[in-house]
Amino acid sequence: MRTDRTAAKPAAAEKRVLTGLGVSPGIAIGPVHLVESGFEQVPEYVVLPGEITAERERFQAAVAKSLRQIKKLRAKASALPGSAAEELAFLLDAHQAILSGSRLIRGVDRRIEEDRYNAEYAVQSEVADIAQHFMAMDDAYLAGRVQDIRDAGSRLIRNLSDRKFQAFATLREGSIIIAEELTPADTALMDPKRVAGFATTLGGAEGHTAIMGRSLGLPAVLGVAGLMAGVASGQTVIVDGGSGTVIVDPDPATLAEYERRQANQVADRHRLRALIGEPGRTRDGLDINLQVNLELPREVSNAVGLAADGVGLLRTEFLFMNRTDLPSEDEQYEDLAAIVSAMDGRPVTIRTLDVGGEKLASSLGDRFGESANPALGLRAIRLSLREPKLLDRQLAAMLRAGAHGPIRILLPMITSIAEVRTVRIALARVVQRLKRRRVPFADPPPPLGAMIEVPGAALSADALAAGVDFFAIGTNDLIQYTLAIDRGDEQVADLYNPLHPAVLRLIQFATEAALRARIPVSLCGEIAGDPRFTGLLVGLGLRDLSMSPSKLLAVKRRVRSLDSVAAMRRARMIMDQSDPGRIAALLDDFNEIE
Ligand code: PEP
Ligand code: MG
Repeated sequence: MRTDRTAAKPAAAEKRVLTGLGVSPGIAIGPVHLVESGFEQVPEYVVLPGEITAERERFQAAVAKSLRQIKKLRAKASALPGSAAEELAFLLDAHQAILSGSRLIRGVDRRIEEDRYNAEYAVQSEVADIAQHFMAMDDAYLAGRVQDIRDAGSRLIRNLSDRKFQAFATLREGSIIIAEELTPADTALMDPKRVAGFATTLGGAEGHTAIMGRSLGLPAVLGVAGLMAGVASGQTVIVDGGSGTVIVDPDPATLAEYERRQANQVADRHRLRALIGEPGRTRDGLDINLQVNLELPREVSNAVGLAADGVGLLRTEFLFMNRTDLPSEDEQYEDLAAIVSAMDGRPVTIRTLDVGGEKLASSLGDRFGESANPALGLRAIRLSLREPKLLDRQLAAMLRAGAHGPIRILLPMITSIAEVRTVRIALARVVQRLKRRRVPFADPPPPLGAMIEVPGAALSADALAAGVDFFAIGTNDLIQYTLAIDRGDEQVADLYNPLHPAVLRLIQFATEAALRARIPVSLCGEIAGDPRFTGLLVGLGLRDLSMSPSKLLAVKRRVRSLDSVAAMRRARMIMDQSDPGRIAALLDDFNEIE
């Protein structure tokens, strides 16, 4: 949908330079593929009498989501230059009014209740009726409003239908996707062979859309104000995911400059590949385990190609996305077993489902109610414990995959030892069942670990360490919850600071609790993949880092240039500080001299 279509359209071939959050480095140059939502292919069916209330609620949820998106876009609009800000704000106000109890909303609700139309079809037919009515009135003002109603309707339909971007499969090779917003599930559908990069108006640097972009190695810029104005499919665009720049219709000189930078980056990546066979060892001989985070089974070939020391985090939630049915135990087993076998004896840490918050999986249907604070709601282990069948099925698939090589089972968003105990009971139950079924599975059962990603868990890490076999520190959420910064919200992205002393103290406390309890501890948040932090993490006692495959060699290069004793000394100095600016200066200074 071209929400900001009234913003001034530039003259043809006039380059436009926009900035946002560079979330996945690299330079992509290619034709725009604009993701617009239209009315084509709207599903149409009769709602059964017993399902009318649920259908009305589904529609209300789409209205609420649309209003939330408009509120976010409204905040972004103010960042636009000149009159574009005013025009876009005016347009969004109109959309907001339409979605707040107007004739459209009442009409759709009536069609669901009385005519038993499904919500998508009810929106489509109500919009068509209103448009016809307004056009017939021969009033220029009302005719102008028709487009607003169509736009608001498109947004509703997009939020109702879990629209798969089938278009991604038929893209021109090397296309760059430009969209208002991409969900993590949308991003999971991108094939790096066809998609060269992407940019969106909404989204923060540590959200899962950004993480998926890094995982796939696709240059990406999110949170770009004014991105959609005047962009059309087929135009040339440059996405520089390092600096956070998007250039639409670049002139020949700009194009040549970015092609030169792109070639330099490719050459640097080639140089890094020379490190593949080398150990992740510091100058003074300390071995650091460098593992990868995986989202999609197909990515395992990257881990193998990079000779990673293992998979430190396998996010299983993507097996549940972009489908309407739940994956069976066999299906999950097959996907997991393929990864475990491909890793050929190197450990694979498989995390139980972590949906909720910004990560929604269509196959889980209505298991979540609307939550005012989804990140604090029925997420991760909380959902698994609420749905024991779902958990048992996952555990069974994991245990069976464990017959093909070493695995560890990791639990997301643990806050108390009681949650771990409940999972241990489930694990014992599943083991008995597998024995009865006489299918091969990991014997003895694999280690069971906890993500340390909630401040409460970090602060009670000493108690938790007594009840689990290992820790994996998840700084993405730990930072979000400690600093109260939504990791996926571009409006507060500048406040998301891994070097805040509160965050560092929690990492230190959890790491030391694990070392005292003699259980392994790894760190698998995004900072593990940023060479800027490597010296500090090693200095804090971490010996096991897990990151996006695209970052592994750059981190290895940093590890190999480090002196671990100097890193520990610098970490002690940093931990004595309380000012984040001073901490950053001490770290950057260390990175320069070391
Ligand atoms: C984290 O929170 O740091 C983490 C690794 O998990 P996710 O990004 O999937 O929430
Ligand atoms: Mg997390």
